[in-house]
Amino acid sequence: MSRFLAKKYRTLDAYVPGEQPRDKRYIKLNTNEFPYPPAPDVIAAVNADVLSDLRLYSDPTAKALKDALASYYGVGTENVFVSNGSDESLNFAFACFFEDGVAFADLTYGFYSVFADLYGIDAKIIPLDEDFSIVPEDYLGLDRGAVIANPNAPTGKALPLSEIERIVASNPEHVIVVDEAYVDFGGESAIPLTKKYDNLLVCATYSKSRGMAGARLGYAIGNAELITDLELMKYSTNPYNLDSLALRMGAAALTDSSKAYYAEKVSEVIKVREETSEKLAALGATVLPSKANFIFVKIPDISGGEAYKKLRDRGILVRHFSKERISDYLRISIGTASDMEALVNALAEIIKE
Ligand SMILES: *Cc1c(COP(=O)(O)O)cnc(C)c1O
Repeated sequence: MSRFLAKKYRTLDAYVPGEQPRDKRYIKLNTNEFPYPPAPDVIAAVNADVLSDLRLYSDPTAKALKDALASYYGVGTENVFVSNGSDESLNFAFACFFEDGVAFADLTYGFYSVFADLYGIDAKIIPLDEDFSIVPEDYLGLDRGAVIANPNAPTGKALPLSEIERIVASNPEHVIVVDEAYVDFGGESAIPLTKKYDNLLVCATYSKSRGMAGARLGYAIGNAELITDLELMKYSTNPYNLDSLALRMGAAALTDSSKAYYAEKVSEVIKVREETSEKLAALGATVLPSKANFIFVKIPDISGGEAYKKLRDRGILVRHFSKERISDYLRISIGTASDMEALVNALAEIIKE
């Protein structure tokens, strides 16, 4: 750090993304990317004409993309905010809505505590229960807002919509942000509830279930006034937060043909997740029931750190968190059937050693 860095940032503990190694080819199961390319319509959306138009600024209102998302979810265009990854929607939501503080789980998406620190927001950390489940009662009648990843990461566990509604209804004076990065893999979306509750903001992303992590496309859906607040942040920092290519690709991912493509690929991921979970359980591993595109797994008789290293030596990357409660677990993204066969075989060897 330089001696010029503002004092308020000197203790900031930044988010550490999963490795994106360039040294060799790994079977990459560490950052919950989709194992398939984006839909053909998305790929076709980027052509020479669009590239020539790069001399122009992108549409700051992102109208075409917002319209497409609004019709996809059955909400109004004024209920949609689009962002550079959902991380940017979350960033702005923290900046806007958590003046009274924020509550989130002890084991959840690591960015929440980074944003809380960045904005000097008081964070109330609520432990998951011993089964790694969110206890909805802990979130009723809070004196602050809350952010809930549903399904949660890194556990993969989901709360039913009725529990999300109970939490939102019991906190009418504060915003509840529901982060639905993984909802397409088996969760229930709270987006329909945004019509009934003006304190519910749902964040979502193209990174996980649409195979577009590199396009940096996210969005938030909620009451029009909440969206106006997020727009205020955007126009105060980066009015052209999405580039023209991302805007085009985002809309192209919502065509009927793209919907059919993603529906098929997402069900394949779910099928492979269930098969992999069964095979690992048969090897003696503890596998949490997952509604996401990853599984959270404890390998018998070996620490999480060691299992991570042994898999890495075999060319398979998974995610290990050194946090005490979960240091014996691995978060393993669901890849193709053949990726997962390689993973199961490698773990079978590691367990035998
Ligand atoms: C991956 C992820 C995000 C971030 O997604 P981007 O759209 O790529 O920024 C947000 N929340 C959770 C829980 C995630 O796992």
